[in-house]
Amino acid sequence: MIVAIDGPVGVGKSTVARAVAEQMGFLHIDTGAMYRALALRCLEEDLDPDDPQAMGEMAAFTQVRLEPSPRGPKVHLNSHDVTEAIRSPEVTALVSKVSAHPGLREIVVHRQRLMAEHGSVVMEGRDIGTVVFPRADVKIYLDASLDARVRRRAGDYEARGTPWSFEEIRQSVLARDDYDKNREVSPLRVADDALVVDTTELSFEEVVARIVKIIRDKIREKRSAEKKRKG
Ligand code: C5P
Repeated sequence: MIVAIDGPVGVGKSTVARAVAEQMGFLHIDTGAMYRALALRCLEEDLDPDDPQAMGEMAAFTQVRLEPSPRGPKVHLNSHDVTEAIRSPEVTALVSKVSAHPGLREIVVHRQRLMAEHGSVVMEGRDIGTVVFPRADVKIYLDASLDARVRRRAGDYEARGTPWSFEEIRQSVLARDDYDKNREVSPLRVADDALVVDTTELSFEEVVARIVKIIRDKIREKRSAEKKRKG
């Protein structure tokens, strides 16, 4: 079973996907973390983020591993733990540029497809339902008002001690969304068959419960179709 969750910055994809995966016993895959790890490598190696060839080669020779852990996946970049480092403002400012290169994306998408070969997954990102798994069993597009998303991001930043003002966070959210929605390859958009869940007025528990119900209904539907097929 493949559950795809897409949506813009600050909509709560990661926390929701993690809780849904935990309740269902599925593997949670945070694809944004993979692109962030590559953006960190680009910074560390002082590579040119505008050079498509350099970005593709860097992706091909960089190992990114997500290790499941109760507080969200631990991220390893060529065997260094970069779980915290990939959330820095510098990485956040660069990641959309790095992830817009088609050659780099091709490599990352291939790895994402392999990760879902061994069992059920909840995979979250920007292009999961449109490009990575266009035939996912369940496709959710999470959305929320800009204000709600900036408030949530501000909470994350405060918890991490990042000294950004509300306005700086607002500008960063707007810039990243704009880049992700308007890039040529795999832009962020709602898949035609995705269910849009607007979380602005919903609690975290309500969002999780809604998605878990959609998945359970889908499992039932698949089982009864299978039964019918077998006669
Ligand atoms: O989800 P998160 O905000 O950590 O993602 C960081 C960035 O990685 C996004 O702004 C986007 O540029 C890129 N991304 C992507 N495709 C995905 C997941 C993330 O392009 N499936």
